[in-house]
Amino acid sequence: MYEIGVVALFPEIVEPVVSEGVVGRAVASGLLGVRFRSPREFATDRHRTVDDRPYGGGPGMVMQYPPVRDAVAAVEAAMPAGCRRIVMSAQGRLFDQSLAQSLATAPGLVIVAGRYEGLDERVVTGLKAEEISIGDYVISGGELGAAVLIDAVARLLPGVLGHEDSPDQDSFSDGLLDCPHFTRPESVDGLAIPAVLKSGDHEAIRRWRLKQALGRTWQRRPELLARKVLSPEEQALLEEFKSEVTDG
Ligand code: SAH
Repeated sequence: MYEIGVVALFPEIVEPVVSEGVVGRAVASGLLGVRFRSPREFATDRHRTVDDRPYGGGPGMVMQYPPVRDAVAAVEAAMPAGCRRIVMSAQGRLFDQSLAQSLATAPGLVIVAGRYEGLDERVVTGLKAEEISIGDYVISGGELGAAVLIDAVARLLPGVLGHEDSPDQDSFSDGLLDCPHFTRPESVDGLAIPAVLKSGDHEAIRRWRLKQALGRTWQRRPELLARKVLSPEEQALLEEFKSEVTDG
């Protein structure tokens, strides 16, 4: 079983992600275990204080290192060796599908969520943790970031998604965005589905989907395409897509 420990002041923000949908099923079927610890349980004064004013002055409060360190130790005591320690931080490495894939191969993760102005820097240095950011914006707490990591990693664990909706088809897993999807009705508000999808010709459908994935990536995320080495077939399909766009 893959194990994730979450150290956060507001675990109730993360809990719904772990109890519903794909991640909820992974937990229910024993493929994923998630446990929570709050630094507040490890505060030593009677007010259960976990934050304090920043050294050097300035606004806001900083989460203290010792209660976080002790919460991490408590969560790790029940987890397999070799779990990766992660601190959610706007200054961290940008989270992407390849990082999700790499995290999914570890025995598990311990994720620390900050609050207030952030965590005492010694949470990172003292725990030798990797900092991960979910994007170039600031949110008020690391709990939503932890939820994003848990969801992205859980769907990659063996057995979590059935073969039919295997993650290999998803955006980014092959360096491309996903192709467009359609379901019934066949035509609605004057909008019909592409005819090829009803042709029953599996090879034609495969080529159409690959062409759309290439075309979308070229239109929306050219930097992803620039990093990808295209096969001769992919090159030809992308050229076809480009000429259809300019002709239309
Ligand atoms: N002063 C900090 C922001 C603190 S926000 C800064 O400017 O970087 C409080 C907490 O929210 C952070 O400790 C972190 O755990 C979380 N957080 C905020 N933005 C995040 C992001 N983009 N990715 C991951 N975690 C983030």
